[in-house]
Amino acid sequence: MAQEKAAKEGEWVQILCAFCGGTGKNPSSAAKCPACGGRRKVGVRTPYYQCAYCQGSGASGNMTCTVCKGTGVVTLDGPVEVCPACRGRGRDMGSPLRLSCPVCEGKGVVPSLA
Ligand SMILES: [Zn+2]
Ligand SMILES: [Zn+2]
Ligand SMILES: [Zn+2]
Repeated sequence: MAQEKAAKEGEWVQILCAFCGGTGKNPSSAAKCPACGGRRKVGVRTPYYQCAYCQGSGASGNMTCTVCKGTGVVTLDGPVEVCPACRGRGRDMGSPLRLSCPVCEGKGVVPSLA
């Protein structure tokens, strides 16, 4: 889960929208991308981590990922560690539908207690 920290913690940065890949368009229709609203970039607060649930794609089927809302990244304050329940996959491996992990809510990381 090593994510390069390009900015200081708590800073807002603009990253390329994962759902549309920076095109600003909804990949499955001609409409505006629902994740970035056509702006091609989304603002996230550092530190951020790749969304485990969609593996950073921002998509869940044709829809935006419910965990990261299409941005491809999730934010969590303070030190984090890989979610012990899903081992960082972000999915409930015990459920046939592979729903988002109830412990980390699909993020794949949880606040570190250390
Ligand atoms: Zn977008
Ligand atoms: Zn996601
Ligand atoms: Zn988990």
